Amino acid sequence: MDELRDLLARAAELAADHRASLADRPVARAVDHAALRGAFGGALAKDPTPPAAVLEELARAAEPGLVATAGPRFFGFVVGGALPAATAADVLATGWDQNGFNAVLSPAAAAAEAVAGDWLKDLLGIPATASAGFVTGGQAANTVGLAAARHHVLAEAGWDVERDGLAGAPRVRVVASEERHATVDRALRLLGFGTRAVEPVKAGPQGAVDVDDLARKVQDGPTIVCLQAGNVNTGACDDIRAARAVAKNTWIHVDGAFGLWAAANPKTASLLDGVELADSWACDGHKWLNVPYDSGFVFCARPEVHAEAIAYRAAYLTGAGQVSGMGDLTLESSRRARGFAVWAALRELGRDGVAELVDRCCRLARRFAGTLAEGGAEIGNDVVLNQVLVSFGDDARTDAVIERVQLDGTCWLGGTTWRGRRYLRISVSGWTTTEADVDRSAAAILRLAAHRPQ
Ligand SMILES: *Cc1c(COP(=O)(O)O)cnc(C)c1O
Repeated sequence: MDELRDLLARAAELAADHRASLADRPVARAVDHAALRGAFGGALAKDPTPPAAVLEELARAAEPGLVATAGPRFFGFVVGGALPAATAADVLATGWDQNGFNAVLSPAAAAAEAVAGDWLKDLLGIPATASAGFVTGGQAANTVGLAAARHHVLAEAGWDVERDGLAGAPRVRVVASEERHATVDRALRLLGFGTRAVEPVKAGPQGAVDVDDLARKVQDGPTIVCLQAGNVNTGACDDIRAARAVAKNTWIHVDGAFGLWAAANPKTASLLDGVELADSWACDGHKWLNVPYDSGFVFCARPEVHAEAIAYRAAYLTGAGQVSGMGDLTLESSRRARGFAVWAALRELGRDGVAELVDRCCRLARRFAGTLAEGGAEIGNDVVLNQVLVSFGDDARTDAVIERVQLDGTCWLGGTTWRGRRYLRISVSGWTTTEADVDRSAAAILRLAAHRPQ
């Protein structure tokens, strides 16, 4: 047992060293992928290796390929860095090695998820009576939410989709914004609807759904409406209250992977006015809540529908098949007890801390946009949340700036195409980012944009 104690202590030391290096190390650097793979070794050795040696070997091999996504100047995708209490809780969850399938396998995991689920609903403006499933991320949350939608709209039409499948079923209309996230399409594919079932709804200039067009697309019959809180390019949120008014007898699913957190900050909560009127919600923990991967949440206004769509039964599984069974609300059966880290993050921040984290990221996004605009860049969106689109005139120049920023290492961001034009895409989602980080990054971006190669 002393060996395990030493190993865990060493792993914690290595992880803490990495975190301590994040503010100063290049955010990303050129990687020799072949060399990286080489460092992990060739064929599997025949003989065992002592655990302590394995750990050192792993740390050495991985080092050149680690990206400072958890650091203060990583603005790519929508990525946070895990909070201290959440990181430590996740280490503990790994050490405890609990199976989060149900309350028989881990009463502690079940209790933590029940409490954290209630806290999340409260923060995100979701009815207290909703179910909460702790899934792997936004993709899984969209898939489970849309499976519940599929169950419900077909049951209302007298069809048992779990028993009879979709062949011969009444046609389900899926009315979804043309600005929906690609994971919604993948969920629809996996659920057997096919992407052709989608009736696209026009989006307005910032990417929020055009409610008049939505009203035109909603008809009688089984209908699922997919809305979005937090467009991945602009941060725009659909008007859920207005959408509900024109889509009364439908199932409304809200993909709020990061945007749902706007509800937890009084200054941005109006973006999510009417959020409680939806039927299912998808949200991520590993983005704006800054908990370790992989962590997402799916909520359903009708817990029994959630469980009927997802649960399975087997004679040997004590505790399964109940609405309260955690495994009845997620696609995974055996799984890591990811609720501990979520509980720890919410406990560390408290209600005010969550609001402040969201508010700070929004404020820093506006500061980024302001500084870049002063330096001559063009801002391509209304900065309502934590997302900023930046252009330097023509697409070729913008792409060149993206490439230079990525090689420079001061900060990291990606590129995107929005309304036919290329943009740098900035997402401020990490808890460690400060004004100084934003100023330093903006200065680097402007310096690299001014540089004209021969
Ligand atoms: C990130 C994101 C997803 C996918 O979430 P994962 O956690 O990466 O699976 C879905 N929808 C939106 C709007 C997102 O931003």
